[in-house]
Amino acid sequence: MFEKARFKLTAWYLVIIMAISLFFSFAVYTGVNTELNRLEKTHLKIQEEIKEGVVVTHDEHFIKFGKPDPEFIKESKQRLIWALGLINLAILLFSGAAGYFLAGRTLRPIKRMIDEQNRFITDASHELRTPLTALRSEIEVGLRNKNLSLNDAKKLLNSNLEEVINLQTLSDNLLELAQNGRLIDPKNFEEVSLSAIINKAVKKVEPLSLKKQIKLNIKVKDITINGIADRLIEVFVILLDNAIKYSINKGGVEIVAQKDKDQVSVSVIDHGVGIEADDLPHIFERFYRVSKSRNKSIAGYGLGLAIAKKIIDSHHATITVESIPDKGTTFKLLFRLIPHN
Ligand code: ADP
Repeated sequence: MFEKARFKLTAWYLVIIMAISLFFSFAVYTGVNTELNRLEKTHLKIQEEIKEGVVVTHDEHFIKFGKPDPEFIKESKQRLIWALGLINLAILLFSGAAGYFLAGRTLRPIKRMIDEQNRFITDASHELRTPLTALRSEIEVGLRNKNLSLNDAKKLLNSNLEEVINLQTLSDNLLELAQNGRLIDPKNFEEVSLSAIINKAVKKVEPLSLKKQIKLNIKVKDITINGIADRLIEVFVILLDNAIKYSINKGGVEIVAQKDKDQVSVSVIDHGVGIEADDLPHIFERFYRVSKSRNKSIAGYGLGLAIAKKIIDSHHATITVESIPDKGTTFKLLFRLIPHN
């Protein structure tokens, strides 16, 4: 498909360039032709005048240019046609090659986008299939059981509900990933209080931190940054949720914010399972989950950090990670401060 589109675009480039080139060639030919005809006519006129004795033979113009030669003028016209033909052929070949190269360059980002979209659809349907298959087989087994008691049915429905909630989270995340670029418009940025954002995020993860008895230490002074509050809250919910999920019970998680001259850094630090060096470069990729046996029991689809990175990128900020296996992980966000006039 890419090659077909590339040839089509090259053909369009060629049509436009050749139309311009042929137009100019025609203009040059007509101009030169008129001049040659005029020259021929002038010579013939002088010859006539010499014959009639109006002009003497030693007329300077005639001496200088000699006798008009119709053959020579005809040959000049033909040479001109050849020269213009060759120039056009050279332009055709050169612009064909250059057009093919440029068409490739123009279409490459579009191809990358289409490939990326196809991969996203494949990954998403793959992820959706697993919980859907589990749900389906659970329902089928339940329906086949002729002695299903009310208690069993309730248990089955509860398990189904859990799967449905997971599926809903997954579809929300997928929608978010698909729309994120469009939802964040720098025109909607406003000054937001970092401590207010972090406090709201902490509230959302509180049930999980209470369940795991993990203490959240917030060391954030009142600093303002530019952005969209709801999106930034989402980033901190993802980071805090992970910090709690991948920490051992009764541990601690710190959130530290610092302001330098022209930037604000926020670190989310945990003392949990950590991430191996081999996995670190991939954790912001969609659907990437560290395949360690102890991580497998922890629910997730590997979409949180991909979403967080998208939001952070569109805030012109950066997100980096440092981790030591079995010691802990630190995610660091860096926001540039916009100077006030
Ligand atoms: P998930 O829903 O699987 O947590 P994420 O995109 O949020 O998806 O994270 C991707 C992977 O990165 C996780 O599966 C986990 O292995 C690893 N990870 C993320 N945060 C942490 C953390 N704080 N400590 C250890 N591992 C982490």
